[in-house]
Amino acid sequence: MCSGRVDLEFVLRAFSNGMDGVFIGGCRLNECNYITHGNYHALNMVLLCRKIMEHIGLNPERLRIEFMSSAEGILFAEVMSDFGNKVKELGPLGKGEGIDQNELKSKLAEIRKLVPYIKVVKNEKLASRLVNPEEYDKLFSKDEIDRLFSEVISYYIDPEKCQACMTCAKRCPVEAIISAKNQIHVIDQEKCIKCGTCFEVCPPKFRAVTKISGEPVPPPIPEEKRTIVRKGKEK
Ligand code: SF4
Ligand code: SF4
Repeated sequence: MCSGRVDLEFVLRAFSNGMDGVFIGGCRLNECNYITHGNYHALNMVLLCRKIMEHIGLNPERLRIEFMSSAEGILFAEVMSDFGNKVKELGPLGKGEGIDQNELKSKLAEIRKLVPYIKVVKNEKLASRLVNPEEYDKLFSKDEIDRLFSEVISYYIDPEKCQACMTCAKRCPVEAIISAKNQIHVIDQEKCIKCGTCFEVCPPKFRAVTKISGEPVPPPIPEEKRTIVRKGKEK
C-alpha cells in the first residue's frame, strides 16, 4: 500500500534477480493520508540505494522514484515510457556498465547481507524529511558511502569475559549466536547481520561483546574449550 514499505532489500533483490531497472511510484509528497509520510522514507531509501549502486559501478539511473496521484494517468504513462526508454538505452544490468556478471552477483549478495546494518547505521538520515529537491544529492555523499563499506563493524564475544548468561543469544534476531548452558557463547559471523543488539544487552559487569572494525575477527574458540567452570565447581 505505502511506498515507505519498499525496503532497500527489495530493490537490491530485484537487481540480484537480473532486473535492468526498478521503478517506485509513490503518492505525492506532503499528500500522505497518514502521519508517517512513508513516501519520504521511500525517497531517502532510493537516494541511499542510488549511491550504493554508484559504489559498486552500476548506473544509478536504473532506479527511479516518482510521486504522483492515482488520477494522473497520463503523467504515469509518460514517466513509465521515459523510464522504459532509459533502461533500454542503458542495456542489460552490469553489461551496460562493463561489470563482470559473477562479480556483480557477489557484490550485490555482499551488500544485501549488510542491509540491516546499513539501516541501523543510516537510521537517522533514512527517517529525515527533505523539503527541497536540491538537498537530495547531498543527503548521502560518495565518501560517506565508501566509509560505510570500508568501516563495517563486526561483533565478537571475548571468550575470557563471557559468562554464558545467554542474554545475547535470547535477543539476537537471527539466531547467530551459538549458545548453550555453561558454554562460552560464539557469534556465527556468516549469520550475523551486525545489528549490535548483543553489544547493547551484554550485562555491563561482563562487557564480553566487542566491536571490531578494520581488522579481522579472531577465530572462534574451539568447541572443546567452551565449557565454563564456575568457582566452587572445580574438581
Ligand atoms: S550483532 Fe549480535 S545480536 Fe546482532 S545479529 Fe550479530 S550476533 Fe546477533
Ligand atoms: S550476554 Fe555477554 S556474558 Fe552473556 S552470554 Fe552473551 S556475551 Fe556472554
